[in-house]
Amino acid sequence: MPTIVAIGEALVEIMRRERDRPLDRPAEFVGPFPSGAPAIFASAAARLGAQVGFVGTVGEDAFGECLRRRLAADGIDTCALRVTSERPTGVAFVAYRSDGSRSFLFHLANSAAALVGPEQIPAGYLAGVRHLHITGSALTVSAGVRETCYRAAREVRAAGGEVSLDPNLRPELLPAAEIRALCAPVLAEATMVLPSGDEARALTGAASSEAAAQELLARGVRLVALKRGAEGSTLYTREGTRDVPPYRVEEVDPTGAGDCYGAALAVALAEGLPLDEAGALANAAGALATTRLGPMEGAPTRAEVEEFMRGYGPAPVRRTTP
Ligand code: ATP
Ligand code: MG
Repeated sequence: MPTIVAIGEALVEIMRRERDRPLDRPAEFVGPFPSGAPAIFASAAARLGAQVGFVGTVGEDAFGECLRRRLAADGIDTCALRVTSERPTGVAFVAYRSDGSRSFLFHLANSAAALVGPEQIPAGYLAGVRHLHITGSALTVSAGVRETCYRAAREVRAAGGEVSLDPNLRPELLPAAEIRALCAPVLAEATMVLPSGDEARALTGAASSEAAAQELLARGVRLVALKRGAEGSTLYTREGTRDVPPYRVEEVDPTGAGDCYGAALAVALAEGLPLDEAGALANAAGALATTRLGPMEGAPTRAEVEEFMRGYGPAPVRRTTP
């Protein structure tokens, strides 16, 4: 039985081979690469050594088989993964610009990924779950996905498990009020929030990420992990704030770094590692995730991430407040 579970969209990503090739003109694509924030999280957590389950739906087609095979190969429990002939597997087309920004074109709302419901989670499946991970992206896919996430969050929290929320909804793409409304039922149960960029501000309406983190802690969240890309991350708890310095890597494809970071944090904390060590492992996993093309392809195994960290020596942790 899984101890860590993620719910939401599994999709394939088809990306431009070269930068600065907009999606409205012909140019080469490469893919399919297995993707979807909750699926990347599940894959990364399994590769890091946890017993992981994934709840989602793929189509009975080649892309669905690509995803099912990949999740199974990572050792993920797929008994709550539904394969349907009703709709095709979700797809995202992605183009990168040389300034590092990305544009996404999603075929999701009318795909198999939207056909998720609480009934596909076997009875008792969540009973032994120590950590449930929910992403803002999943909450936008369909009412069925939302209901499944909200119910599972209540159940896991009521049983004393951790519930993490990665808002991963960019305020430029969705009005902040909508982000808040979608996330509110998960936030009510969340013990960890893992925002990046302006997501913490969008989630709370606070004036800065720092103020947003403090507001989340005041509401009962135990850990806010602010992801800061090449600058590393900052961990906020009621005991204080610490900046966890980044690992330097050659970034090839940033997509999926945040999900690998969250997965490493969840795995480390579920194992009972101290917060400093968990933060360092998460930064290392996030950094490694950016070094390969394809959102899941850079997700390191436990041995890979530990070897990478050893090459660096002990990661210093800067305490910004006591
Ligand atoms: P995603 O693109 O998956 O949505 P995110 O915005 O949620 O990512 P990031 O801050 O980009 O999250 O990445 C998560 C973590 O991975 C960072 O906090 C950092 O520790 C590590 N990381 C990401 N990019 C780099 C990089 N270029 N160099 C070193 N570390 C990185
Ligand atoms: Mg993110």
